[in-house]
Amino acid sequence: MASGSTSSGVAEARRGGVRGWLRHGRGLLGEISDAIVSVFFPAGCRICDGLLTSASRIPICAECLASFERVRGILCEVCGRPLPGLTRKEGEAQLCPACQNKTYAFEKARSFALYEGAVVRAILLLKFEQIEPLGGWFAERLAELANAEGDSLAADVVVPVPLHRQRERERGYNQAAMLSKPLAKRLRLPHKAVLLMRTRARPDKQMLSLEERWESVRGAFATRPGSQVDNLRVLLVDDVLTTGATLDACARTLRDAGARSVVALTAARAIRNPLPGTREW
Ligand SMILES: [Zn+2]
Ligand SMILES: [Zn+2]
Repeated sequence: MASGSTSSGVAEARRGGVRGWLRHGRGLLGEISDAIVSVFFPAGCRICDGLLTSASRIPICAECLASFERVRGILCEVCGRPLPGLTRKEGEAQLCPACQNKTYAFEKARSFALYEGAVVRAILLLKFEQIEPLGGWFAERLAELANAEGDSLAADVVVPVPLHRQRERERGYNQAAMLSKPLAKRLRLPHKAVLLMRTRARPDKQMLSLEERWESVRGAFATRPGSQVDNLRVLLVDDVLTTGATLDACARTLRDAGARSVVALTAARAIRNPLPGTREW
């Protein structure tokens, strides 16, 4: 490209030296960062296709990110399942039917957003396209959640729900670790990516029935030989909480290995899933 045809901002800034840069700083930097965004994400927002106007490296626009529906309202104190229609009663534990039956081996689980609409698309981007800045964004939200919950989510180490070695080799990464690693950094806790391992792969079948889901994870995890778990408070991290079966299986393994407590955080939570021991939904 001939020098005469460069954008006027750039040309002027060049002519004006440092002062020109300063005078032009804002507009020019803005221009440059927007140009970089359009180079990396020429297709626009990966959810609505709208223009990406900020210099964030997340390929989702601010409006779509803001549209993610938070998990809120009255939640099951243990698994964090929304309990619509319930009114809070002073001094009484609010538990979903599964937790009344003490289904889960984890002490507490919380999730950032409901697994529906734009959130499903975002999780798929994380899962299949390894978009790390998006993992970082979700991790920030989970850190906020952990801080808001305070002591009840306190932990000594952060551990991602592992993929089977074969699956991780095929994919090249573990999407849960894309959340747990930046989360551990934000919470200033050690990240133990290899403390847990999945010893039996998930069946290849896409849709598993409720029974198959529980069956497929039962005994499917182990702690790595030689790893120190004794007396640790573990924070497990996964992308989606669906039935809670996976987190439960991981928590059981950790408790059997001597962990003092296991709590869990997930980016999203599926709500239209039947719960074990109930005929709801
Ligand atoms: Zn969008
Ligand atoms: Zn519950």
